[in-house]
Formats: sequence, C-alpha cells, structure tokens
Amino acid sequence: MDNCIFCKIAKKEIPCTTVYEDDKMIAFLDISQITKGHTLIIPKKHVENVYEIDEETIAYLYSKVPQLAKAITKAFNAKGMNVVNNNGTNAGQTVFHYHIHLVPRYDENDGLRMIFTSNMDKYSKDDLEQIASNIREQL
Ligand code: 5GP
Ligand code: ZN
Repeated sequence: MDNCIFCKIAKKEIPCTTVYEDDKMIAFLDISQITKGHTLIIPKKHVENVYEIDEETIAYLYSKVPQLAKAITKAFNAKGMNVVNNNGTNAGQTVFHYHIHLVPRYDENDGLRMIFTSNMDKYSKDDLEQIASNIREQL
C-alpha cells in the first residue's frame, strides 16, 4: 500500500535491521528500542489491524513468536517478555500495518509501563454473565 512505512520496509524501499525474514513475514528491530532487543513482527502483505487480518496470516505470525521471544531473551538475558499488539488509535496504534511487538523486560524501570487497573468491584457475577453473553452473541 502506498505511503505505508511497513509496506516500504517489506519491499526494501526503506531499510530496517532484520532479525528474521521469509516469504510471508519480517521480524526487525523497532526503531524506538523501548527496551534492548524490542522487535516487531509484520506480515509482508498489507493488512491494517486485528479486525482485518485473516486467520492463516495471524496464525503464521504467532507461530514464530516463541522462537523469536526465546532468541531475544537468550541474547540479552532478559527477565521476561511483553507480546503486544495495538489496534486502532485509541489502543495506541500509530502505524496502520499489523504488527506484533516483542518487548523484552529487564526490570520495572526498563522503559515499558503497562498498567492493568482492576475494576472487578464494579461488576457483579450477573454483570459478567451478561457481558459474556453479549460477546457470545457476536461470535
Ligand atoms: P504502534 O504504536 O503502532 O503499536 O507501533 C509502531 C512502532 O513502529 C513504534 O514502536 C515505532 O517506534 C515503530 N516504527 C515506526 N516507524 C518505524 C521505522 O521506520 N522503522 C522501524 N524499525 N520502526 C518504526
Ligand atoms: Zn502496509
């Protein structure tokens, strides 16, 4: 797709620092290096987000996640790994070509802050049943 920075990377029109590549995907270093070894996995074909990607492509990308996560961890003696995928501006997506972040973790002050705030006191068991039912109806 024109004007998509990750399509340009996939087509070698702009450079990247490649970790792994095959005919369907590339894994390359994120330019921001939130933490040392921060890597992106992208499909070579343009697809914007989780709402658009087909099951075969996403399954292929995730099939490479364990091997890449272990390699990054081993390379830098990381202590953990966040596997993150942002979809839509409200979820923090800034490049609209599907990508998975592999962010190795070293300690709580290493650069990445993810805060999961519990709201469980706001939902009763019935509320949870209703929420699950609403989702099931859409499957
Ligand atoms: P998002 O916020 O969409 O989940 O993540 C986009 C990521 O792409 C950001 O972490 C950003 O640093 C990275 N990025 C943006 N432009 C480039 C680029 O030209 N090269 C590389 N290697 N990473 C990029
Ligand atoms: Zn693209």
